[in-house]
Amino acid sequence: MNITGLKKSIVPEEVGHEMYSLIAELYPICRSITGDGYRQTMGILQRHVPLVVHEVPTGTKVFDWVVPKEWNIRDAYVKNSKGEKVIDFQKSNLHILNYSTPVHRTFSLKDLKEHLFTLPDRPDWIPYKTSYYKENWGFCLSHNVLIHLEEGDYEVVIDSTLKDGSLSYGELYLQGESTEEILISCHACHPSLANDNLSGLSLATYLAKRIGSVPHRYSYRFVFIPGTIGAITWLAMNEEKTSKIKHGLVLSGIGDRGNVSYKKSRRDMAEIDLVACHVLQHSGAAYEISDFSPYGYDERQYCSPGFNLPVGRLSRTPYGRYPEYHTSADDLGFVRPESLGDSFDKVLAILSILENNRTYINLSPKCEPQLGKRGLYSSIGEDELAMLWVLNFSDGSHSLLDITERSGLEFNSLQGAAHVLSEHGLITERLK
Ligand SMILES: [Zn+2]
Repeated sequence: MNITGLKKSIVPEEVGHEMYSLIAELYPICRSITGDGYRQTMGILQRHVPLVVHEVPTGTKVFDWVVPKEWNIRDAYVKNSKGEKVIDFQKSNLHILNYSTPVHRTFSLKDLKEHLFTLPDRPDWIPYKTSYYKENWGFCLSHNVLIHLEEGDYEVVIDSTLKDGSLSYGELYLQGESTEEILISCHACHPSLANDNLSGLSLATYLAKRIGSVPHRYSYRFVFIPGTIGAITWLAMNEEKTSKIKHGLVLSGIGDRGNVSYKKSRRDMAEIDLVACHVLQHSGAAYEISDFSPYGYDERQYCSPGFNLPVGRLSRTPYGRYPEYHTSADDLGFVRPESLGDSFDKVLAILSILENNRTYINLSPKCEPQLGKRGLYSSIGEDELAMLWVLNFSDGSHSLLDITERSGLEFNSLQGAAHVLSEHGLITERLK
């Protein structure tokens, strides 16, 4: 069994249901870019995969950034003059402006309103907002609740702490035959939001679990990091490891019912870009491919010019293009086991090609070698055609994927042909 065998053996919908259960378990936890919610989340993932949790102290300089103070929250509410909680963190952790400083004071409605955030266009939804790098406090609520708040005094309690501590992240390394690596990255810093980011977290976990059970050519490095600051911190602390990264994927927003989308790396034509595009183009389902842009998720850091790593991003509906994005409507009803399973299947399809995409050299390039005398040429069927294509383009510069694109044949049949030709000593793998 290898990754190709794994791809054939899994039932996407079954994996999708397992992934969904993990999302449902993680959903209630109040996460942020630092703090106990993050650690608790890593602890739950450790029941599935042996990831190592690293702690980076507050104040650590990471390129142009500094690891922030650690934020923890126990409770938060706003009470009206009758003593009724009109906003209650215990009902939804999205109610608190993430990273709010501690507060215990009474405010008039007018003064309180300066710290309240709503979505007038979606009056039933609670927005998700953060203030990581500028000390502030606030509450997020549905617009319908806001407009019914009466004049009067309001007691505001935010039982939080913002002090020196550390930033936590999870990392898992699966050694392969080669020390060359495939990086799988997801952010894990959002509170009760299902698609962004629990879907990516869950997919990465189940991927690690399955890949860890079979032999593989590449080594795999999974990072479960807080968005932006986590990627910057990981890159700052592991700069010497980045030369091993040959391919990478950021996984985020992969559980909604939209089509799968792939955002290319800054390199535009990296092998991961070619493979991901090939898989989507041959999937039989609608898809979207977009060019690199310096905005989005953590591909922004991996593809910053000083690293320029071959890292693309796999999502379903791109972030910001669905109204539920960063609101309470990105809930457990917004992600679907079928979509999760389908995304899982497509990631395995990409990895399966990466694992098998090799470049060969024809050892008998002057005219065709006589296949018949080797028992390789019975009639001209797909197998023979595949052999002719592999022989003709195995000049050390075309990979099997390049030959697939050029010939229109299936990757698997070219891979099979290459195997046979290699066994007969007609081609040899080009070693880097
Ligand atoms: Zn987000």
